[in-house]
Amino acid sequence: MKINNFFFTNAGAGVDISSAIRDTMLLFNVDAAGVWPEGARLADLKPGSLLIVSSVRCEEDQVSIKIVISFCTPAAEIESLTEYEYRPMPLARTKSEDSEDVTGLVRRLVRLTVLRLMRKLTGSNPAPWGILRGVRPTKIVHRLLDQGLIRSQITAKLVQEYALEPAKAALVTGIAIHQRPVIVSPDNPVNEKKISIYIGIPYCPSRCLYCSFPAYVLPERREQLDAFLRSITRDIESTSQLIARFNLSVESIYVGGGTPTSLSATDLAALLALIREGFRSAQTKEFTVEAGRPDSINNEKIDVLRQYGVNRVSINPQTMQDKTLKQIGRRHTVQDIIDIFGKIRYAGIPLVNMDVIAGLPGETEADMEDTMRQIAMLNPENITVHTLALKRGSILKESLSSGILSGQSLPNEEVTQAMLKVATDYATSLDMHPYYLYRQKYMTGNLENIGYAKPETDCLYNIQIMEERQTIIGIGPGAGTKAVSPNHWRLQSSYNAKDVVSYIKNLDVYLNERNTLLSRLYGDCKED
Ligand code: SF4
Repeated sequence: MKINNFFFTNAGAGVDISSAIRDTMLLFNVDAAGVWPEGARLADLKPGSLLIVSSVRCEEDQVSIKIVISFCTPAAEIESLTEYEYRPMPLARTKSEDSEDVTGLVRRLVRLTVLRLMRKLTGSNPAPWGILRGVRPTKIVHRLLDQGLIRSQITAKLVQEYALEPAKAALVTGIAIHQRPVIVSPDNPVNEKKISIYIGIPYCPSRCLYCSFPAYVLPERREQLDAFLRSITRDIESTSQLIARFNLSVESIYVGGGTPTSLSATDLAALLALIREGFRSAQTKEFTVEAGRPDSINNEKIDVLRQYGVNRVSINPQTMQDKTLKQIGRRHTVQDIIDIFGKIRYAGIPLVNMDVIAGLPGETEADMEDTMRQIAMLNPENITVHTLALKRGSILKESLSSGILSGQSLPNEEVTQAMLKVATDYATSLDMHPYYLYRQKYMTGNLENIGYAKPETDCLYNIQIMEERQTIIGIGPGAGTKAVSPNHWRLQSSYNAKDVVSYIKNLDVYLNERNTLLSRLYGDCKED
């Protein structure tokens, strides 16, 4: 069924529901033609156009929604479908962020109803995650667990109230239940002094086709790099002073980017020495460094990682197909990945993660099968399976827009879904379980990214950054500090500039912001 565009009425009983309707229709790739003109008749609808008429009533004890979708077929016939939803009027909003107010309820019910009607009308479901739009679907499950709901009640609620496919509802609920022992919850009381640290190194050996991150190819001019290293040193030192001042303990350290191992062995050693001295203690369980690109690492750097106590390394092949590696701008081969993996194992670093991406240009299900077969032979502790996200700012998105690459180069949604299934089956066969999950905008098929781990090897940092129940201090360009108050997980953030030049220039501003944020949470001027 080809739907060209849609008109809508914005009758939300005082609530603006236009974005709720537009966002939901975008899942079906249908753009708005505009608000339906007052006085226009259904007979004015053109073939291929659709009209969404909403009526919302907020009464004393009940919110009711009626949505009618009318579609004008190519034969100029009108097909109409209607759905109703009723819910009790929410109680007056408390300070708790868990409660949904009337505005939130109306918008959610509009999304839910439009999605259901569109699924019926088109016979398709491009939204396996229903009306959930956020990056962190597990957070909803954690809130429901906090309220005392059990697994079956949560999955039922996700299906009924958010229109998730039952398989996704079961997946996300299972992951959240698995995470409970390591995150703060009513059953696992607060240790607000336990935090994690993220350090971002924004350099890479070359730029990957799909990358939208502001990663820089390592500068040839030493002065530029020196200026960055001086700034990040100050950033680390300032953070370690805060940690000492507020008596915080660091549970996990994650050095990401970019590709931190792009730095020379000498620079990497100096950086890791500072990190170890500033942050590591007997309470630190995890120290990860991303060595994403095999073309960034060698024996000397592996030795530096080992020497400074790094116990988890991420090597990110993305694919084990040489033709694709070349196409996506990686300057290394499959054999390089295998060689580096062997060297990291030989060095005795205990935990290795490998990232793969489903949906890379030109790839098929058979390519994913072969990639996973090779990764399974290496037998890492963690595998993170991403779905390709066509993000603005990536060379891939620009190449597709400008016609350098055709849309056909990308596997379609069905193939990408089949690739994810292959990856999941391999992870299961390696005795791995899904332990964290997140979603991004513009993902093929509106799917998800999932981290798998062998027993007792979950990456704590990945869980904490997603669930937002632990304070995480971000160091380096683009890094964010999230100060989490145990009072309903209220979160206050400050961010460093993404681009290196602004980061260096305005570092004092960012350090002050972070200082204020953490002083409010841990210092004498507590807000909560
Ligand atoms: S290695 Fe990662 S951060 Fe660097 S260019 Fe590739 S995708 Fe971007």
